[in-house]
Amino acid sequence: TPTLVWLRRDLRLHDHAALHAACSTGGPVFVAFVFERDILDALPRTDRRVELIWHALADIERQLRERGVGLIVRHGRAREVIPALVHELKAQRLVFAHDDDPFALARDEAVRAALAGVRVDSVQDVTVFERRELLTGAGKPYTVFTPYKNAWHKAMAAEGAACLAERVPNLAALAPSPLATGLPSLADLGFEATDLHERYRGGATQARAQLAEFVSERMADYADTRNFPAVKGPSYLSPALRFGLVAPRELARAAWPLREQEGAGGWLNELIWRDFYHQVLHHHPGVVHGPLKTDYARVVWDEGPEADELFAAWCEARTGYPLVDAAMRQLNQTGYMHNRLRMVVASFLCKHLGLNWQRGEAYFAEKLLDFDLAANSGGWQWAASCGCDAQPYFRIFNPTSQSEKFDAKGVFVRRYLPELARLTDGAIHAPWAAKPIELGGLRLGVDYPRPVVDHAEARAKTLARYAVVKAG
Ligand code: FAD
Repeated sequence: TPTLVWLRRDLRLHDHAALHAACSTGGPVFVAFVFERDILDALPRTDRRVELIWHALADIERQLRERGVGLIVRHGRAREVIPALVHELKAQRLVFAHDDDPFALARDEAVRAALAGVRVDSVQDVTVFERRELLTGAGKPYTVFTPYKNAWHKAMAAEGAACLAERVPNLAALAPSPLATGLPSLADLGFEATDLHERYRGGATQARAQLAEFVSERMADYADTRNFPAVKGPSYLSPALRFGLVAPRELARAAWPLREQEGAGGWLNELIWRDFYHQVLHHHPGVVHGPLKTDYARVVWDEGPEADELFAAWCEARTGYPLVDAAMRQLNQTGYMHNRLRMVVASFLCKHLGLNWQRGEAYFAEKLLDFDLAANSGGWQWAASCGCDAQPYFRIFNPTSQSEKFDAKGVFVRRYLPELARLTDGAIHAPWAAKPIELGGLRLGVDYPRPVVDHAEARAKTLARYAVVKAG
């Protein structure tokens, strides 16, 4: 009996739950990917993510071709295309990895409904632990990270090898299909080439090499380096994880045995945050539209032309706070932003500019190469103090001291704000407070903006704004 594997955010052929399940049943297996028209139509014609996906598929197609089989690629609505393919291939079974993004769940339901009589199996692949696998003693989902992490460790210690075992698919089961007519070009899909970073142009083959490099060269130092944006500290694997060029269990497999070491243990912790936010999304899909802590919906954010201008200044890296602006340039220019800076700019948007965090969340969703609904919503609600185990509302990052602490010599700031290159190390974090001689000729307000808000004033306003929550 033929089986169709539908690739979605698992764009690789190795350690692959859906392929592993499909290829162990005996019959011929076909592999398909759909460029989802409903998603693509809403994007600008130059979207780095579309190009990243395209390269990932090219890598898969190359590997399949070496085996004499092809990849079925379509551009359309998966809810129509997938059932049609199943019928054309006379497949008796459809297998895919499920994803708790509400859009994906609704689409998958529609596909199931259109395939009455066909076996549809969804498998776990997007996280290490998911959904209801880890629950409190009372059978409830966790809402605080540390107990969740402890449960994660406990379950891993108990299940260890089985949980992390590589899902090696028997690729000999893959069969050629006349429907595999080749990968359309980016232009055929209506997109233009972008400036996507080299490291994301090689699909799973390259992502695996990147993982191996991180694990052997840099993981041990992660705890010391991860907070400093000028340093090559983190793995930069988030886009690979987003699109499944590597399996999250591959990463956990590398870190788990070394978890007692600070570097590997710290990195594993971040992977557990990823699982945490995915299970939050599963149990509380409402986080897509609003705060998890519903009383925070009472916080009144600034709106109107002045607020719109502040939002534009944030997006366009002209807030006058160098670390914030350098971070926003990193996002705009590369599609990536360092985690420390995501926390700083997110906090700045809601707690300095007084803007609804959902505006920032939407901007990140548009720009981030690694945009992931669960992690993005979790990160923004953490920063705005309204999510699971969030930062308390009265903790307000000071962008100047964050800069002094995590970019002391201004290396990162100078990289993205070359107009500040000649400022002294002391002046670069807060040019408005520097002596003229420290500015190296910079004309404040002309070459670089003065701060759009004052830290102390903004802090006081924010505490007042959040008082509605405290008042109950
Ligand atoms: P590493 O430090 O190497 O970490 C390894 C992996 O762990 C990451 O690739 C990621 O998958 C996971 N991870 C790390 N930190 C977190 C975290 N805090 N929460 C959840 N998972 C984490 N991450 C996304 O993948 N997509 C997003 O859309 C996203 N939006 C964010 C928004 C805000 C406001 C904040 C504060 C954080 C957000 N993050 C998001 C989390 C984090 O910033 C990125 O995962 C990380 O910077 C990616 O870089 P890396 O792969 O080099 O990370």
